[in-house]
Formats: sequence, C-alpha cells, structure tokens
Amino acid sequence: MLYKYVDGSLIDESGKVIYFSNESFVSRICEGDDCFLCGSKKEEKKFNDEHVIPKWLLSKHDLFKVEITLPNESKIRYDKYTLPCCEECNSYLGQNIETEIQSITGKGIESVNQYIVKNGPWKIFLWLCLIFLKTHLKDSLLRMHLDRRKGDGNIGDIYNWGFLHHIHCMVRAIRENSSIESQCCGSLFVLQAKVTDHYDSYDYRDIYEANTILLRTGDVAFLAVLDDSCSANNFFYNHFQRISGPLSPIQLREVLSHITLLNLKLKNRPRYFTKVNPKNGDVTIKAELPEEWELEDHTREELGSILWSNVSQMIESMEDPNLTEENVTQGLYHFLFNEKDEFIKNSMDFYKK
Ligand SMILES: [Zn+2]
Repeated sequence: MLYKYVDGSLIDESGKVIYFSNESFVSRICEGDDCFLCGSKKEEKKFNDEHVIPKWLLSKHDLFKVEITLPNESKIRYDKYTLPCCEECNSYLGQNIETEIQSITGKGIESVNQYIVKNGPWKIFLWLCLIFLKTHLKDSLLRMHLDRRKGDGNIGDIYNWGFLHHIHCMVRAIRENSSIESQCCGSLFVLQAKVTDHYDSYDYRDIYEANTILLRTGDVAFLAVLDDSCSANNFFYNHFQRISGPLSPIQLREVLSHITLLNLKLKNRPRYFTKVNPKNGDVTIKAELPEEWELEDHTREELGSILWSNVSQMIESMEDPNLTEENVTQGLYHFLFNEKDEFIKNSMDFYKK
C-alpha cells in the first residue's frame, strides 16, 4: 500500500520514501539537509556525512588537504567537502559501489575494460552519476555570495533542478534496487590516461549545462554524457577510433569538450521518467527516445570556446607560441589530432608542473 504526499512523493506503510517528487527533492534534498539518498532527518537517524569525492580517491591522490575552487571562486578543502548522509546509506554506498570501483580502478585500465566486458557499464555509469549529483547538491548548500550583503542566494540557485531530479532517481536505484531501462544509460568512455611525473595523477571536471563529466585516476579516465542514451558514443565514434595511445590530461579535456558540444547540439532529446507500480511499490526508470538522432549545425569556434574553458588553466606551462586563447577559441589549435588528422602522441611531454 502506497501513500501520496501533497507534493507528489510516494511513501510505503513503514514511512519509507519510494519516490521523491521533483518538489520534495528540491525542498528536502537540495535546499534542506535530509540524508541526500533516503531522505531521513537528522533527528531520526545517525548521520556521518558523505564525501563528495570518495575518500578512497582522496587518499589515493593525497587530496585531503588540497583546496578546490568552487564556481563562486571560494575555496574549500576536499576533506570538508561533504554532504548530509545517514550512516546506513553511507555504508551501503561504501559496500555496494565504492569498494568495487576502488578495486577495479586500482588494478589499472585493463582491469576496468575487462570488468565492463564481463559486467556491462552500469555500475561505473551510476557511480559517475553519484559523483555528479553530490557535486551539484553540494553547490546548493554553499552560498553563492559569501558576503551576505550581496544576497542570500546559493551557488545551486542558478540550477534548474529537473535534470538533477532524474539523476537522483538513478542514484537511488542503486540503494533501492529499482529497475532502470537499458536506454537510460548515457555514453560512457573509458580511456587510457598517460601517467608521468610531469602532472597530477587525478583530474575531475564536469559541465553542468551539458551533463558531462570527466574523472581521471592514474591510468584510467572515465568520461560520460549522463543524459544522451549513448548518442555521443555514436557521433564520436570516428574520432574515438583514431585515438591510438594513452591521452594526456589536456587531451582528455579535449575529449570532454567534444562530447559536451555533441550533447549541447542534440536536436531531439531523450526523455526520462519514473514509473511506480501502485500495487507493490516497484520503481522503474524509463526512457523515451527520439525517432532520429540528429545534431544541430555547429561551428569550429563553438568547439573552440568550450575547449578553451576546459583547458585554459592547464596551458600556462606549455611553451608553444601558437597556443593562444585566440587560436584555441577560433578552433585553430587542438591537442588530440594534428593537421593531418593523426593522433598526437607527445602531447604535454614538455609540460612542467
Ligand atoms: Zn540515508
């Protein structure tokens, strides 16, 4: 037996939330401080908070004391970058997702590829959804203006929560064992990252407007488009085939730029929604795909300006007189392929940290 709140959420007889409506997701999870996964309140359960970037990654790359810069230019240490989460959900995520991802990425790129061949992409894809969700929920808790005289808004206020609501449903499916239709899986790329002493062994970047994400740890780089039902996989296929070696950090940022543009230019988008069986409370996340996958026209300058926003902080030490903002934003400078369309194998080899 299910009960419906006025805000549209569904709860079962024990009071457990089966489905968060968009409205309750915004008020309880984005703007409130209930457990971000199950919605428990702090007075109901023990909380121990969840690191936005998993603790095992912080420890692997010695990041606990490193500061990150937020979209409002304020800084926060990784060890303080956490979200309200109850102990139960926190240990569930640890046992059912983080331990496995840590183990397979720890053994390197070959092990990740073998894992995907054997088990499919879902666990890794949902893990990336989880990190993306946590990052942007955290934004909602942080003040956009640290100086209150400039207003009370939070960084998160600029967001349209509709898409994050879908990602929240997907992440809750891990916890609640709900079904997800296979077409809800977005494009996932697992690429070999180049490892040298010249640069950091970790990178994270996401583009909220395009729902794209890049996470690099050691020689493994994950890139994904979270809401395209694999269309970027098809459109990027030719480029993908020409990548013939491990990629430097800046090359991975260029791949991120390509898939970002592909997703922003998708003409007809898939639509995602959640169905709940009123009799037994079973939850299924479904996708409705467009009849045809088509891209709007785009210019090399559009790719150039996305590329520039993703690489500008990385290029300071790359001594190349042609590497200028003007050349990159005009689409005249690339890091992945040379003018003969061949993969660049020595990208960043002369880079100094
Ligand atoms: Zn919880």
